[in-house]
Amino acid sequence: MGFFYRSGVNSTNVRYHVRDVLRIYFPKNMCYNKPMSNCLFCKIIAGEIPAKKLYEDDEILAFLDINPMAPVHFLVISKKHINNLMEMEESDAAVVGRMFFKAQEIAKEQGCEEKGGRFVINTKTDGGQTIDHLHIHFLGGRVLGLSPG
Ligand code: AMP
Ligand code: ZN
Repeated sequence: MGFFYRSGVNSTNVRYHVRDVLRIYFPKNMCYNKPMSNCLFCKIIAGEIPAKKLYEDDEILAFLDINPMAPVHFLVISKKHINNLMEMEESDAAVVGRMFFKAQEIAKEQGCEEKGGRFVINTKTDGGQTIDHLHIHFLGGRVLGLSPG
């Protein structure tokens, strides 16, 4: 990577420069972010573990939760492995925004437009996150209690 580094730039600029170079070699539709080998959701993205997919594009995957907590319960993930919302970077804002937009579209397709539901991102230990790959839950199809735990 030595040739990426230029004199007279700070580390932030160097990081952006490396990312721009990666963009050239890995066009927009390709994921240049290395999947985490021990991540269950990365394995679903790679097709190594089956899932009931509801939507997929180059950046996003939505699939049914294997253990539904409500009549409608699906997950939306980014194909880029992001550990959790606390570790999201500013450059991830667009894809996380799209994840919410897709979750909303799918929730409507699943019949939840009128009555709504709950969009949830459990985060790290205190948030009860069990899979360390950022994901939005959508729960709907019944009245949900207020208990967070
Ligand atoms: P969280 O506890 O917020 O990290 O949510 C993880 C969710 O992933 C749980 O609701 C699980 O039921 C769900 N889950 C775990 N394994 C799978 C799988 N193989 N396919 C679909 N959903 C899964
Ligand atoms: Zn992952």
